[in-house]
Amino acid sequence: MNKTIPVNKNEYIDVEFEDLTHDGAGVAKIDGYPLFVPNGLPGEKAKVKVIKVNKGYGFGRLIELYEESPYRVEPACTIYKECGGCQLQHLSYEGQLLAKEKQVRDALTRIGKLQNVKVHPVLGMQDPWRYRNKAQVPIGEQEGGLIGGFYQQRTHQIIDMKECIIQQEKNDEVVQVVKEICSHYGVRAYDEGRHKGDLRHVMVRYGLITGEVMIVLITRTNDLPHKNKIVEDIVSRIQGVKSICHNINSKKTNVIFGDQTKVLWGEDVIYDYIGEIKFAISARSFYQVNPEQTKVLYEKALEFADLSGEENVIDAYCGIGTISLFLAQKAKKVFGVEIVPEAIEDAKRNAALNGINNAEFAVGEAEIVIPKWYNEGNSADVLVVDPPRKGCDEALLQTIIDMKPKKVVYVSCNPGTLARDLRVLEDGGYRTVEVQPVDMFPQSTHVECVVKLILK
Ligand code: SAH
Repeated sequence: MNKTIPVNKNEYIDVEFEDLTHDGAGVAKIDGYPLFVPNGLPGEKAKVKVIKVNKGYGFGRLIELYEESPYRVEPACTIYKECGGCQLQHLSYEGQLLAKEKQVRDALTRIGKLQNVKVHPVLGMQDPWRYRNKAQVPIGEQEGGLIGGFYQQRTHQIIDMKECIIQQEKNDEVVQVVKEICSHYGVRAYDEGRHKGDLRHVMVRYGLITGEVMIVLITRTNDLPHKNKIVEDIVSRIQGVKSICHNINSKKTNVIFGDQTKVLWGEDVIYDYIGEIKFAISARSFYQVNPEQTKVLYEKALEFADLSGEENVIDAYCGIGTISLFLAQKAKKVFGVEIVPEAIEDAKRNAALNGINNAEFAVGEAEIVIPKWYNEGNSADVLVVDPPRKGCDEALLQTIIDMKPKKVVYVSCNPGTLARDLRVLEDGGYRTVEVQPVDMFPQSTHVECVVKLILK
């Protein structure tokens, strides 16, 4: 046996799982050496086979469960194992929420070195299924027509799928009908290997409150054969369709969208509401995929901002202005900053759509625009950040520390970078008052947090 690594490849060992990884695998420790085993749950005892041994950690396969977790359940989806889109269906929803709370607590203490921070139980969904408002389905071919569904885990093999139980039912219906219609007109699916064929992906977006549907057909070729007939059939067969778009992606790439989007029929946007606010959503805009929980998240952010109507607020990483417009209802003025110019166009349009005239938006990197504002003598009473997974840029954190807004509300989709950034803000004079995790992605390992910080 290797001196530092206590297990050997192909060895069978008995373990007890202590934890879950970010992708939902069980973690067992053998003399401190972590072994990651898919399908293992914390508290379970099992026989595993060691299949890969790296320097600092290894991988195993579950062979036999001796003791089952009380939270283990039969996955509700029949294609759960092949698909990989969800990682926690073998854990009850109660178990998922507890695991996510622990993930947040662990990150705060281990990475952020934050002791005694108030972490609330995760706000979960009443019914944690059928929540996604957006589907992006790769299209392939089989004898007899088009198929569409998902890539089998770790392959580029497309598996046909009739339903995805975390999608809105409407999205399943639309994908099915579009597949049938395109098959009927002999549309060829894109063939990745030979870089031939037409239809690559079908994207569907559904406005939960308005019932409006947007369909985007993404093709390799500039033209979509039989497009007029296809559009006619889609409009007659699917209720609620408001927009049919065509996006062209001629590149050899895994990226779904190309740069060019044309409207084939109807409008260039669909509308939806979060709370009282109406949003126009275009084919390429970022829009949260779980509208029911988005409302919960934004209401928490608003509660933590605790506005009286007198405040100047900065919303960094504002996207299409969703949080900004929520805050504008209660603030004196909101300034949103976002790097994607099209998103800022949408944000301005959304402000006008709701008659909100105390919100301004600027295109640029938060870590450049906000320091510039500060150097010009501007400041904010409350600052909200909602960065991508990599967290906030150091220059932005330093500007917050210098600017000294009374309150900071940090919305995060990654507990690790959140904890890292909270440590910087704590050292710079802020106190982390409370952390509210929100489950935006039931059945997956992701967890979103809203954090309230105040200036000490
Ligand atoms: N608050 C929005 C969007 C959050 S997603 C909502 O809830 O809908 C994070 C956003 O940050 C994305 O829109 C992304 O384009 C933007 N972004 C990424 N890096 C950025 C940067 N350096 N400066 C400003 N915005 C950035």
